[in-house]
Amino acid sequence: MKRIIKIILILPLILIMIVYAVGYIMKHRYDDKGSDFCPRCKSENVGKIFYGLYRGIEDETPEMQEKIRSGKMIPGGCLIYDDSPRYYCNDCGLSWGRILESKK
Ligand SMILES: [Zn+2]
Repeated sequence: MKRIIKIILILPLILIMIVYAVGYIMKHRYDDKGSDFCPRCKSENVGKIFYGLYRGIEDETPEMQEKIRSGKMIPGGCLIYDDSPRYYCNDCGLSWGRILESKK
């Protein structure tokens, strides 16, 4: 009887840990995979594309202006499609990754 109570108490904890672990892996997979260098020319001069309503200089904080100037952030427009890319290479122009997670 005590054993059953133990299992009932431990099982949700294990499930929560699994959910957190999977969430952590998925988040880092989509956020960081391929973000360090371009998969085509191996350049490290790559930027992350951001989406959303963006009106240019008036929406920019100083940090954002610096990131846009240096190519670390690229305005991607306010519409996100299924195939909208996440990263952009400033050297060869390749864009890759997916802003939306795969629905597979
Ligand atoms: Zn490239």
